[in-house]
This record gives sequence, C-alpha cells and structure tokens, in this order.
Amino acid sequence: MDAAAARAALLPSWSAAVVLLSYLGYLAAAGAILPGKLVAGAVLPDSSRLHYRCNGLLSLVLLLGLCALGVYTGWMSPTVIADRGIELLSATFIFSVLVTFLLYYSGLRSRHRSSSLKPHVSGSFIQDWWLGVQLNPHFMGVDLKFFFVRAGMMAWLFINLSLFAKSYLAGSANLSVILYQFFCAWYIVDYFVHEEFMTSTWDIIAERLGFMLVFGDLVFIPFTFTIQGWWLLRNKVELSLLAAILNCFIFLIGYLVFRGANKQKHVFKKNPNALIWGIPPKLVGGKLLASGYWGIARHCNYLGDILLALSFSLPCGTSSVIPYFYPTYLFILLIWRERRDEARCSQKYKEIWVEYCKLVPWRIFPYVY
Ligand code: NDP
Repeated sequence: MDAAAARAALLPSWSAAVVLLSYLGYLAAAGAILPGKLVAGAVLPDSSRLHYRCNGLLSLVLLLGLCALGVYTGWMSPTVIADRGIELLSATFIFSVLVTFLLYYSGLRSRHRSSSLKPHVSGSFIQDWWLGVQLNPHFMGVDLKFFFVRAGMMAWLFINLSLFAKSYLAGSANLSVILYQFFCAWYIVDYFVHEEFMTSTWDIIAERLGFMLVFGDLVFIPFTFTIQGWWLLRNKVELSLLAAILNCFIFLIGYLVFRGANKQKHVFKKNPNALIWGIPPKLVGGKLLASGYWGIARHCNYLGDILLALSFSLPCGTSSVIPYFYPTYLFILLIWRERRDEARCSQKYKEIWVEYCKLVPWRIFPYVY
C-alpha cells in the first residue's frame, strides 16, 4: 500500500464502522444471554463485590462458528479484517475516544457512593479522561471494563485468523506462519478457558476505566500484538528445524510458568491450605504464598509471560526488530508494573512483605533480577 492509499485508509469507512459495531453488539448480546460461571470479584474498599459472568469462551466458540458459516456460505470474506486493517484501526480509535468522552461525562454526573461507581475527579480534564472517573462503570447491565478486555483479546485472535487466511490464500502459510498463529491462538483460547482468573488482576481491581484502559484493550492489544502476523504477510521466513524446536521449547516453558504461577495464586486465594506441587504450601504471615512458582521469584508469572511473548516473535527470525515490538513492550510494562505492585504490596502487607522478600529475593528473573 503506498502512502496516499494508507492516508486514505486512515479515514474510517462505513463498512469498517459496521464491522466494529456488529462485533461489539454481538459481544454485548452474547455476554448478556449465554450461560457462564458467575464469579465474585475482589472485595472493594466498601466491602462490596461485583460478580462477573465468565462466558467468554462460549461467546468465542459461537462467534467462530458464525464466522465459519458466513465464510462457507460466501456471505463474508475470510480476509475481511486483514483487507481493512487500517480502516478498522482508525474506526476503533475514534470509537475509543468517543466512548471515553461519554464515560467521562456520565462519570462526573454519577451520584453513586459505592466503591465501584463513585466518581474520582481531580479537576483536570485530561487526567480524568485519561485515567477514568469510575472504577467499574456499567451500561445496560454490562460491566464495561470486563467487556472491553474481552473484546480486545478476542479481536487479537480474529485479526490473526484473517491474516492466516490471507497467507493461506497467497500460498505463503509456511512453518513460521503456522507456529506464530498456533502460539497466539493457544494463548488467547487459554485466556478464555481461565477467564475467571482475570477477575482478580490489577486492571480489573485497581484501574479506573478511562481512555488509557479502553485504548489499551480495543486498539493497542489487537492492532499491535498482531504486528508479527502483518509482518509475516510481507516477509518470508524459512525456519530451520532446530530453530523451530527451540521456539516450541521457549513457548512451552513460558506457558507452564505463566499459567502455573497464575493458577497457584488463584487456588491459594480460594484455599490457603491447598497443596502446591503435591505438598502443603509454605506461607508467610498466613497471607502470602512462598511455595511453588511464588517461592522462586515474586513475579514468576511475569517471567512466563515475557517468555511467551518472545516465542510469538521468534518465528519471524532475526532480520528485523519490528516483530519484536510485543516482547519489548511487555518487558518494559511488566518491569514497571512489578515496581508498582511491589509498592502496593509493601504498603498492604507491611512486615509480612519484608519477610517474604527476604525469603524470595528475586523479583522476576531468578538469579538475575
Ligand atoms: P498478579 O496477578 O501477579 O497480581 C499481583 C497481586 O497478587 C498483588 O498485588 C497481590 O494482591 C497478590 N500477590 C502478590 N504476591 C503474592 C503472593 N506471594 N501470595 C499471594 N498473593 C500475592 O499481577 P497482574 O494482575 O499485573 O498480572 C496478571 C497476569 O496478567 C500476569 O501473568 C501478567 O503477566 C499478565 N499481564 C499481561 C499483560 C499483557 O499486555 N499481555 C499486561 C498485564 C498483565 P493481593 O492484594 O490480592 O494479595
């Protein structure tokens, strides 16, 4: 695409707006109608708890089925997203700006005093719009924060599938394309299998819903985490067997550490006496887990995620830094987030946290950091 065509595509078309609104409309309807486990969220400062219907996996499977039917009957093109990438990006960006203006103005008018809906207003428009005014705003019974994360994660998969269809139709779906697609698809589907774990993550329990989060979920996740896929459309990489095996190994280790650590914490929060790796857990002050992955480094889950991110880029080889955007971004984000979480935990747990840090000195990378 030349510069003039790219500039023209930056103007969102009506068809891009229809694709985006149909997608969001489907997710809102599926989220409200389909059955799913009702999971209690973290206890909020006023002791209230929100409940989340975790039916993301079912919504995803149904949408995949509907799209497959649409492609089979010739009603939709499998490459519709890949063909309209920039138009969709600009439509989603404009949608994020508009929706966060609405969130800002409705948040300001909120008279609720509950922790989830109480307005937090600094008086600076930029700051309040950027960070958000309310913790958990709702629209027609839909928890918007949970909704936007789901929309972003699912869009990541649908963009990738469309890119795969484009490669396949062009006859360029080789081993590196298949590995990239498989690793990302596994990660995203696994996210929906374990969607309930999301209810206790930092974004859901601590961040307010403003432009930063909405843009992150709807624009940043789907359009930048797929850079490797876009790059592979234009660049052919022939992986050696050894490189492919090494790539699979990094993915597997990353996945085991990432999923294992997050699962151990989730299980521990539900039942502090549950066995970890088959033996009774070591606890600090009865509140912190110091066994399993949480006895190796204080944020082993971040280490697993960084290895996974690296495995998503390695299929692109080493000829360009562009496909390494995602692991680089995630590395910086998680180092920064670990610092913020450390400060939060040390304030919350006080001397128990000091004791935990003595017992488990490594932050993310054992023997390195
Ligand atoms: P964590 O899931 O690690 O949650 C941190 C919280 O866990 C702490 O605030 C504390 O909360 C609790 N905790 C910390 N240590 C212990 C312990 N030893 N025992 C018991 N509880 C402990 O952080 P995130 O929400 O940031 O990340 C969740 C996952 O999401 C990670 O795997 C991360 O890699 C991933 N992620 C991915 C991103 C991406 O862009 N791909 C972006 C951000 C995160 P409490 O007060 O409840 O005790």
